[in-house]
Amino acid sequence: MAVEQTLILIKPDGLIKSLTGNILSRLSEAKLIIVGAKMVRVSRKLAEEHYEHLKDKPFFNELIDYIMGQQHNTFRVAAFVYQGENAIKKIRDVVGDTDPEKANPVSIRGAYGRITTSGVYENVVHASSSPEDAEKEIKLWFKPEEIVEDIYPTKEVVLNNVKTLVWA
Ligand code: UDP
Ligand code: MG
Repeated sequence: MAVEQTLILIKPDGLIKSLTGNILSRLSEAKLIIVGAKMVRVSRKLAEEHYEHLKDKPFFNELIDYIMGQQHNTFRVAAFVYQGENAIKKIRDVVGDTDPEKANPVSIRGAYGRITTSGVYENVVHASSSPEDAEKEIKLWFKPEEIVEDIYPTKEVVLNNVKTLVWA
């Protein structure tokens, strides 16, 4: 079984409902290690890049507002990179189905998610769904120096006369 990395986000509804501790406890059931963690104020650019695969969906604009925190007036997201064998599926199993109504009630989304009156799934967490998505998402949300393991190739560039590592 391959060692994988996966990006987890506690979305603004998860933060405002004070679910951070519960969610991290539930995720610890997967017996993985955390190799990156931070709070992020989500720009429109970051939100649109993260959800680029959904840009033609009718709920796209609302989804962008949601992940930026506009709906909850709380402009932050908690971001984590978990690593371990089969990490992507293990985390998705604990997180549950995208639709909180369809999600197993013992999963995180089944327990804490809801569907808004306009139809957006407020499902409290994001979790990467494939190794390709995980790599794209981790490189989007984290700099190499913010990850405590060497997970993807990097290269050195000079920015404002300072040597900096960026994803290769
Ligand atoms: N989403 C939604 N309605 C849908 C599908 C998705 O509101 O019919 C939202 C939901 O918040 C979901 C996010 O868009 O988590 C990203 O959708 P994706 O299909 O990638 O689901 P995920 O990978 O998050 O389970
Ligand atoms: Mg997805």
